[in-house]
Amino acid sequence: MANGSLDVYDRFVEYIEKKGLSIAVTLRKEKADYIISQSGCQGFCQMGPLVTLYPQGILYTKVTPGDVEEIIDETLLKGRPITRLLYHSPVTDAPATDIAHIPFYSKQNRTVLKLCGYIDAQDIDEYIANDGYAMAKKVFLEMTDEDVCSEMLRAGLRGRGGAGFPTGRKWDLTRIQKADVKYIVCNGDEGDPGAFMDRCVMEGNPHSVLEGMLIAAKAVGATEGYIYVRTEYPLAVERLKIAIADARRAGVLGGNIFGSGKSFDIHVMEGAGAFVCGEETALLASIEGKRGMPTPKPPFPAESGLFGKPTVINNVETLASVPIVMKLGADAYAAIGTEKSKGTKTFALTGHVANTGLIEVPFGATLRQIVGEIGGGAVNDDGTICGVDFKAVQIGGPSGGCLTKEHLDMPLDYENLAAVGAMVGSGGLVVMNNQTCIVQIARFFMQFTQNESCGKCVPCREGTKQMLALLDDIIEGRATAETLELLEQLAQTVKVGSLCGLGKTAPNPVLSTLRYFRDEYNAHVFEKR
Ligand code: SF4
Repeated sequence: MANGSLDVYDRFVEYIEKKGLSIAVTLRKEKADYIISQSGCQGFCQMGPLVTLYPQGILYTKVTPGDVEEIIDETLLKGRPITRLLYHSPVTDAPATDIAHIPFYSKQNRTVLKLCGYIDAQDIDEYIANDGYAMAKKVFLEMTDEDVCSEMLRAGLRGRGGAGFPTGRKWDLTRIQKADVKYIVCNGDEGDPGAFMDRCVMEGNPHSVLEGMLIAAKAVGATEGYIYVRTEYPLAVERLKIAIADARRAGVLGGNIFGSGKSFDIHVMEGAGAFVCGEETALLASIEGKRGMPTPKPPFPAESGLFGKPTVINNVETLASVPIVMKLGADAYAAIGTEKSKGTKTFALTGHVANTGLIEVPFGATLRQIVGEIGGGAVNDDGTICGVDFKAVQIGGPSGGCLTKEHLDMPLDYENLAAVGAMVGSGGLVVMNNQTCIVQIARFFMQFTQNESCGKCVPCREGTKQMLALLDDIIEGRATAETLELLEQLAQTVKVGSLCGLGKTAPNPVLSTLRYFRDEYNAHVFEKR
């Protein structure tokens, strides 16, 4: 939309009506030979506005309103592709005749993102026509609560929000609690710089999130759910509200769901933009109308969560994965990924890379595949493509760490990333070329976490501030040899002493860049003295 997609869409509607063609606009539901539809994000952000023609799978990139007449007259009506609008390889400049021949798409495994950019997010019938709500119906009418939890456990789905806790275990812990009310909370408070996976799922396929919440509700016996979305995501909020209203009308939400006699309803709650509200106890406090600050665990939300009641809290991608797990079955889902990290993961691929956008790969994919093949290679400051000759890749946002060329062939999963001082995090992947100053990058993330520290506990509140001051000293030439030692000691103290995940992970970018790029820190310290 920022690229002007709506202007292109409006021009399509205008020209179709002017020519009197038998082409329908999906929301009007009339019968026609062709349908024009507004999709969610197709992932290839940098190439937008995108127009895809099915069933041929022809993808047109950087389309302007001025291209619309030609697309209809030439391609739609005469079957002739327009070469200048096709995607061209950044290396060979060869045009791709259809979407299947574009490595950005063909090298991915899109499951959570499969319908994003394909269906009209504002049309529940399109979701239902693609097997939507079939798994929720099966779960409500044919499965016991225990069976649903054990299916999730066997599938090995782990939380996609960062910590990677097994979803089935979280559900089962909530299921066994005795309470009059239980809640399902969807964490849509995605705040990492460079991350937009959850936003695209909420905007592009909101019903998949609702269906995941419905299945979770049946599994634990919950009757009410909340989706907590950052207020900076107005389109996600709008589309979720439309989806909820449509699902209520279709009898999928509300009372007597699928004739089961059970009820479940969902509310949207807008956060005010505090990064710390992505932490689950702070998020729950925010929904309750309190200041969004973390509280110590235990008790865990499964025992005492929202309004003191047993609560499942899962992130957007986790919940959108749930119908896929149920559809594939636990064994088939568990066959995707690595031994302990099952399924696929979405990443926001950004920075110095030829193809930026939203991608999805199985756990176990490597940086060589992601940056070199899907990303089309890293890009130098002068615009030349340098393949996988990048300096670093920051994974997991401000909570994560950096990877280098030595990790090019390491299968990316929860365990391998933790072993090298990084983490999956929510899924931000920022590629940095060889001209990037790594100390400046560490400072950027430290500035972010320092700004976002809620101030409740001393190690995070004061420690991040002092770490930022030390990084300023290094960059501005005031550092001594002891500064690096002090920075490292302070980073360890903040990591160990902070109350919540924000503080515990805030030093990660500094620690991992010190681990792999100490020479660059030394160059700042000694060359500027
Ligand atoms: Fe707040 Fe930071 Fe302490 Fe978390 S670690 S409670 S964000 S001060």
